[in-house]
Amino acid sequence: MTQTPTIEDLRAEVDLINRELLTLISRRAEVVEKIGRAKTAEGRPQHYDPAREERQLRELEQLNPGPFPAATIKAIFKEIFRASLALEESNDKKALLVSRQVKAEDTVLDIDGVRIGGQERPVVIAGPCSIESPEQMEQTAAFLSARGVRILRGGAYKPRTSPYGFQGMGVDGLILGQRVARDHGMLFVTEVMDTRDVDVVAEHADILQIGARNMHNFALLREVGRARRPVLLKRGFAATVEEWLYAAEYVLSEGNDEVILCERGIRTFEKWTRNTLDLSAVALAKQMTHLPVIVDVTHAAGRRDLLVPLAKAALAVGADGIHVEVHPSPATALSDNEQQLDFAGYDAFLAGVGAALNVPAGG
Ligand code: PEP
Ligand code: MN
Repeated sequence: MTQTPTIEDLRAEVDLINRELLTLISRRAEVVEKIGRAKTAEGRPQHYDPAREERQLRELEQLNPGPFPAATIKAIFKEIFRASLALEESNDKKALLVSRQVKAEDTVLDIDGVRIGGQERPVVIAGPCSIESPEQMEQTAAFLSARGVRILRGGAYKPRTSPYGFQGMGVDGLILGQRVARDHGMLFVTEVMDTRDVDVVAEHADILQIGARNMHNFALLREVGRARRPVLLKRGFAATVEEWLYAAEYVLSEGNDEVILCERGIRTFEKWTRNTLDLSAVALAKQMTHLPVIVDVTHAAGRRDLLVPLAKAALAVGADGIHVEVHPSPATALSDNEQQLDFAGYDAFLAGVGAALNVPAGG
């Protein structure tokens, strides 16, 4: 005569089944990971396959021996599918070209002897918001190069809120920026806003800037990824860190691994600054990626009186450089005249930030 099993016996059986289930779902996960890797290797980044999922659920529903109702079986397997998909996607993320999983050591850019990233001294990128005239560029380059700044900025194509605002000097501005930078032994960085302009901007600039408003312009990101020039990639003002890194991934995926990330403040509810400088994003980007990360204090703050503490804070969290706008006469600048520093202001800024940015003249 067989004895009725006790609750303890039954619980022991359930424990055993739990272990078997665990072994099975873990084995299933390993197979799923293999599928995920195969898809990625085939260049099929889309892991979710709703038609296949539908077929699996239908088959399980038909095979269901009970006592669980079909809806319960579906819900349980749907959860397993969800977890599997998350696993495939997180494996993909680990394998991003921008990530430290793929490249552990810091990327150090060497652009004509100017080194950015790693343990190098932080760089300064400075210059006017817009390129406006030969005199303005000449004076600014002479002033900044005498203070050891090696990278001159200036916009020739300006992303203006109003279509009636000054839109930049275009090709004439590119020619001017390049000439003045050369004359003073500096590199020239300028924004490119349109895929149609990438070639001409790359012809004149040493570094191509992607502005905050274009961080999500994937066609443009791909195009600068194909250009053989380093890229300064600003973070969009409403972009998550993940979106920012994926934007960089677009550039790297086209074969261009010379990307400098630039945090320039994000939009929050705060009104007393133009944007909110997100220092956690800088620390996070440094931790997750091997790319140099710089901080644009000018556009982050939108006011001059905060530039020193923000630059100090940026360097303290590991920024590889500071981007700041400098203009001979900010009051009459054609764009961003509230926030650009004049020459005395730049000297005060440099003195305020201290040793970290005190690059010796010419070096
Ligand atoms: C700029 O650097 O000139 C500029 C427009 O900055 P952002 O794209 O960060 O607004
Ligand atoms: Mn500006």
